[in-house]
Parts: sequence; C-alpha cells; structure tokens
Amino acid sequence: MDRANKPLPNDWRRQGQERYLRGVRLIPRAYRPYRPGWEHDHCEFCGAKFSCHEGDLKDGYSTEDGYHWLCAQCFADFKDEFAWELGEEVPEEPG
Ligand SMILES: [Zn+2]
Repeated sequence: MDRANKPLPNDWRRQGQERYLRGVRLIPRAYRPYRPGWEHDHCEFCGAKFSCHEGDLKDGYSTEDGYHWLCAQCFADFKDEFAWELGEEVPEEPG
C-alpha cells in the first residue's frame, strides 16, 4: 500500500471545492441528514452516498453545520492540501 499517494492536480474528484472547503473545520461523526426530510448526502469529492440505508456510508466527516459531507478516503487524500482543522462533535444537551 502506498499511503503517500497524493491526489493529482487533475484528480477527477476536484470540482472547485477549495472555494468553500479550504481551511474549514470538519467533524468526524455518524451521518445524519442536514434537516428533516433529507435522507441522503454525497461526498463532496467522490460522490459516495451517505444515508441511513444498508450499503451506504454511515460515518464520515462533515462541516460543523452538517451541510457538507466527506468520506474517510477523500478526507485522508485531501486533508493536507485543504488544511482542514479537525473538530469535535458537541453532544446535544438533553432537554
Ligand atoms: Zn469521497
């Protein structure tokens, strides 16, 4: 395994994500829809599907507001280049 495989400048997953994802804080967490009624999301880079259904990704990294999601593979591949800060899930206060 070559773990130092950096994504190439022409990597197919690049779609201008640096405009909104560079230097943001990402939180490792279990997938949950951004708001009620949404049932899935896609990795911002490779398009892998997150949902609560069998066969889809259940865990990943999201922006603090839960709007943008990344799979673990893309997080690992682009984290140096995008200078992401790793955040922590803030547990919701009961009540
Ligand atoms: Zn991905």
